[in-house]
Amino acid sequence: MCGIFGYVGVPRDTGEMVLDALRKLEYRGYDSWGVGVGVNGHIAVEKNIGKIGSSVLDLPLSSIGFGHTRWATHGGVTQANAHPHVDPSGRVAVIHNGIIENFRSLRAQIEAGGRALVSETDTEVVVHLVAAQLAGTCDPQRTVEIVGNVFEQLQGFNAIIVLDRATGTLTAVKNVSPLVIGRGIDGCYVASDQLALAEYATEIAFLEDRQIVQLDDDGARAFDLDTLRSLHLDWRAPTVKGYSAELSGYPDFLMKEIHEQPEVVRRVASELGGEAQQLAGEISDSYGTFFIGCGTASYAALTGSYLFSRIARRHVNFVVGSEFSYQEHFLTDRSLVCALSQSGETIDIIQSVLTAKDRGARIGALVNVEGSTLDRMADVSLHLKAGPELSVLSTKTYTAKVALLLLTAYALDGRMKEGEDLLLQAADVMEESLHPDATDRIRGLAGRFRVSRSLFAVGRGLSFPTALEAALKIKEVSYIHAEGFAGGELKHGVIALIEEGTPCLVFAPEDETYTDIISGATELKSRGGYIVGVSSRNDPVFDVHIPLADVGNASPLTTAIPAQLLGRELAVARGLDPDKPRNLAKSVTVK
Ligand code: GLU
Repeated sequence: MCGIFGYVGVPRDTGEMVLDALRKLEYRGYDSWGVGVGVNGHIAVEKNIGKIGSSVLDLPLSSIGFGHTRWATHGGVTQANAHPHVDPSGRVAVIHNGIIENFRSLRAQIEAGGRALVSETDTEVVVHLVAAQLAGTCDPQRTVEIVGNVFEQLQGFNAIIVLDRATGTLTAVKNVSPLVIGRGIDGCYVASDQLALAEYATEIAFLEDRQIVQLDDDGARAFDLDTLRSLHLDWRAPTVKGYSAELSGYPDFLMKEIHEQPEVVRRVASELGGEAQQLAGEISDSYGTFFIGCGTASYAALTGSYLFSRIARRHVNFVVGSEFSYQEHFLTDRSLVCALSQSGETIDIIQSVLTAKDRGARIGALVNVEGSTLDRMADVSLHLKAGPELSVLSTKTYTAKVALLLLTAYALDGRMKEGEDLLLQAADVMEESLHPDATDRIRGLAGRFRVSRSLFAVGRGLSFPTALEAALKIKEVSYIHAEGFAGGELKHGVIALIEEGTPCLVFAPEDETYTDIISGATELKSRGGYIVGVSSRNDPVFDVHIPLADVGNASPLTTAIPAQLLGRELAVARGLDPDKPRNLAKSVTVK
């Protein structure tokens, strides 16, 4: 799940440049980081645990270097496990994204050969396998062959970059995990995503599976992994511009992005009608549509299934993205699999989409990052146009997905204008819910709940996925145990967990669920639950009422906001970083 960046070109302060690029990739993982540069017959490395922050390196000028931000999969978060990993002779260093599924047998093989491994990672096997074969050679083409050969021994979704000091090359190869090559005035580059290249590359090329590329002073050369025949890289203008990491007066990106949501929803209403119409056409032509997503995107997808039922009387199936590839045996070439992903790199989604493609299904995508793997794989890709989301928590891309699905459902029913008007109305209510007085009320609640052990969120119908998303938002940023439930499920077990003062977030829009959800809230209160009602209508059962004007089918957009704010305020009240919660990464690129 790491971020990778490498450079070969004119000598410069390569270490600092790499570190700067890694800062832009930290959303992919921030357990630890490391930078290596080739200089004077050795590879100088600096590694550290924790976030990069304002770290400064003490590395010499160099014409070749690379770096890595890690999200540990194999081996603890330690300096020894941070990448790059260097072979004992100091000739070869490796950075890696992914999981080498057969690393145990490779490790055993290396150890049996008398070599000692110094880290607990799966990655280190690559260093030893490559270094052993490179010994005694100094031909860049041999390096390509050997790296390719070693890569073929690795099982799983992986991307590796090998720095070979002797030939002055970086050699990169991938399977599913993304790599993008860049070239610019000073040299050439390789990175996990375009964002890190934006400042340096005038042209980019996406590395495909079964290609291997080598970067040196003369540029980038690509080869077919099977035949080692030279290939032409498909150079193109970058599609992602650099972003400004400005807080614009907000205390953190989470708060900023929560506040951007009304504008994002308005943009969906005014600019994405054509896309919604296109997806509606695909759904209409399909014989079986499946919405898939992971984490917050899964709740947007589940919301979509309710919206299509209510608005267009159309059944769309919802499956959690990481489970879909185990449950796809019924797909045909008439199926439509519509994948939702902010980054377009979520590996569980990519795997499911690959499986669906193998079965001939058509692929739709709702993605925020243009040029991402999912964006390029899809037959029809809808861009959310929500702008970069820098906080690890999804907020504005969640509401953008829900808004676009709502518009698509209206488009499918031939009522696009009604959908657009509803989104504009919802955006106004979202704006009101972000008024400083409303935030203060939620801050007060956070003060009360900051020491709570558990929190529960309940909703029925359209508010059920909202309850799931609310609980996720709260737990991932505040580390308070939070769970979302369908209101009707309370009596089937959950209610056993309610104690005196347990916070219960109750979503009660004025729809067909209102009476039943209020009954459920009353049952919670009878057992000591402290009821926070999110509703247009106050009710005596609420200990605290968070008022939100009713917006009918668009209620998932407005009700998302109090939960996002509560999560953020709880994190702040507990002294936590709202933008980079522990153990998480924004782009989940490992299984
Ligand atoms: N599996 C490797 C490790 O744990 C790479 C993880 C990553 O992609 O960040 O170090």
